[in-house]
Amino acid sequence: MRAPSFKLGLMMQETPFRASPPLALRTPTALVRELATPPLLNATSGDRTELLVLMFHRAQAGTLGNSPAMLDAHFAHVAANYPCVLPGEPLQAGCLNVCLSFDDGCLDFYQTVLPLLEIHRLRALLAIPPGLIVDSPAVPYKASAELCSWAELREIAASGRVAFAAHGMTHIRLDNPAVDLGREVSDPGLVLTVKLLLTIESFVFPFGRFSPLALQTARTHYHHVFRIGGAINTGWDASVLYRVSADNLTGPADIFAPAKLRRYRLRRWWNRLRCR
Ligand SMILES: [Zn+2]
Repeated sequence: MRAPSFKLGLMMQETPFRASPPLALRTPTALVRELATPPLLNATSGDRTELLVLMFHRAQAGTLGNSPAMLDAHFAHVAANYPCVLPGEPLQAGCLNVCLSFDDGCLDFYQTVLPLLEIHRLRALLAIPPGLIVDSPAVPYKASAELCSWAELREIAASGRVAFAAHGMTHIRLDNPAVDLGREVSDPGLVLTVKLLLTIESFVFPFGRFSPLALQTARTHYHHVFRIGGAINTGWDASVLYRVSADNLTGPADIFAPAKLRRYRLRRWWNRLRCR
């Protein structure tokens, strides 16, 4: 096993949610309907079926990660209180369902997160930019953060606890009109399929950024497309699924506090109102 390397490159950072251009012009009828159905902010278990997709990066304390001890305690809380689902799986009705998603495939996912998933019998979505993955761990990753090798990703796949998502080919922003969307959106799913012998049904936008055309391309090639958005979901069938940052947790259960759930619901309503 390799020694851990926790240097973090700037390109690994997901920026907080910021508005992208509207995806489509909202018709007056749809706008009125959205305005007329504000979120049920105080819903509790039993009121409605909801899906909270949590976004993680590193297994180290900091703005883009959590310490192994915090992840351990957080996973214990999730396992004891919420159904843990992977993209496309049926949601348990009348409660909050949780999907754990980890971005980038840093080495500490293999070394720390996967064993914790095993301990707590949880599963997670792992978003990989395959153009940055190397066969040999001796090759450094852009002289910054170190990613899993293909051999390690195959071990992760064999665990049966992880579904994989494409995360661009080279982890660049996809809101730039000059981006080759074939290479950065369509191809990474094919590369992951060939390398891991798995069907890839999800795409996670690097940095949470995308253009309308990038979203359209992703929707053409993947069943589930994720952004950030800081909001809750009501199911898997949305054109783009929202995630909430779960890095730098202040406590194992804090992210599920009633006030925060109200904020995720309000944010979903606000995002949808703006077609974002
Ligand atoms: Zn990323």
